[in-house]
Amino acid sequence: MERTQTGLFGSSGVRGVINKEFTPELAAAIGMAVGGSLDRAAVGMDSRTSGPMIESALSAGLMSCGCEVHQAGLVTTPTLAECAREFDCGVMITASHNPPEYGGIKLVNPDGSGWGPEETDQVEKTLDAARFRKKPWDEVGTRHVVTDAVERHIHRIMLGVKPVKPMTVVVDCANGPASTITPIVLQQMGCKVVTINSDPSGFFPGRPPEPVDENLTDLKSMVRSLKADLGVAHDGDADRMVAIDDKGVFLGGDQLMAIFAKRFCKKKAVVTVDTSMAIDDSIDAEVTRTRVGDVFVSEEVKRSRADFGGEPSGTWIFPDQTFCPDGILAAARLVEIASEKKLSEQRKAIPVYPILRGAMSFKLENKAKVMKCLELAMGSVKHVQLLRLDGYRLEFEDGWALVRPSGTEPKIRYLAEARVKKRADEIFEFVSRAVKRCVK
Ligand code: MG
Repeated sequence: MERTQTGLFGSSGVRGVINKEFTPELAAAIGMAVGGSLDRAAVGMDSRTSGPMIESALSAGLMSCGCEVHQAGLVTTPTLAECAREFDCGVMITASHNPPEYGGIKLVNPDGSGWGPEETDQVEKTLDAARFRKKPWDEVGTRHVVTDAVERHIHRIMLGVKPVKPMTVVVDCANGPASTITPIVLQQMGCKVVTINSDPSGFFPGRPPEPVDENLTDLKSMVRSLKADLGVAHDGDADRMVAIDDKGVFLGGDQLMAIFAKRFCKKKAVVTVDTSMAIDDSIDAEVTRTRVGDVFVSEEVKRSRADFGGEPSGTWIFPDQTFCPDGILAAARLVEIASEKKLSEQRKAIPVYPILRGAMSFKLENKAKVMKCLELAMGSVKHVQLLRLDGYRLEFEDGWALVRPSGTEPKIRYLAEARVKKRADEIFEFVSRAVKRCVK
């Protein structure tokens, strides 16, 4: 696969178009690069058409270097992470929310956290040098089948939630592996569950696997017509979860984050730099920001012993159960919250501030210069804090701005948010001018 500016591994593992960028050869090589340092690995896959092909190639690579492969089959990423507790590593074959033609691999530690840049850099070095530790015939690994991964995951989730009064929940599993677990968990909690897009299919016939508002039209109308209490939707591997309230309104990102944090965060929340200030205004606990990417959130939650972590894209981390963003656990916990007070009423209690977004192209070879210029420009006005985690986040008492290079295109993306529109416009104007000047 072509090396991107961030290397083969992005913040959520390897992804590419099947048999073009992401091939069985590459999967086998990754298996060999990883397998040399592991005794036992759990391997799972999402519902993509390429799953069995990549699973075979990857497993061959792992076994050739002496690693025992324990195949969990069609499971969600958090289910595989739960299974990986008993092994040295979990290898999840998934392209998450990417379109159907994509495949990918994510690597998970036994505590559910993803492999960070240090670990994946090491894998990339081994791949580049093709320094694989292949074993002689009598030391290659063999293959085992794990049959109870889903049951064990259900068991763990049920330990962390309470039964609820009878309520109706519509579940949209994106034709992914959540189909094997989310409806069952919610039923066990006492809900009447109605499912859509809950038969696994790599063609994603129901909707694109990214759980954004515009992809959830069917779910919204189902919630309205059934007068359901809520709807929940996952991405392709169910490490993400977003919701629809009892009025049929999309509840994602910053609002859902505040609803979860109000309930589960007493001490400290870890969120990404692109998260709205609504979270800071909704809870009394300390709020820390990290680079964008659930791996970084999970790492900081673990390091700082925070009690909640999240990303506005719909990944929620509840460290009392796991460091893996677990969309099924999140769905169960949201049902618990909704059983106490209508979600539409809870939504109204969360502030929604004006937020403005822009983007400007730049020449990739000028990146270092552009970023230096932006740092100086952002620091040139009176501010409370300038965070240099992932681009620059400039914070004021009444608003903030973020400039960061896109991970996929040669563009600088920027945004501004404030409690009132006039101030958001002012900050946006300032940051737009800075970006324009620096990309020239
Ligand atoms: Mg995902």
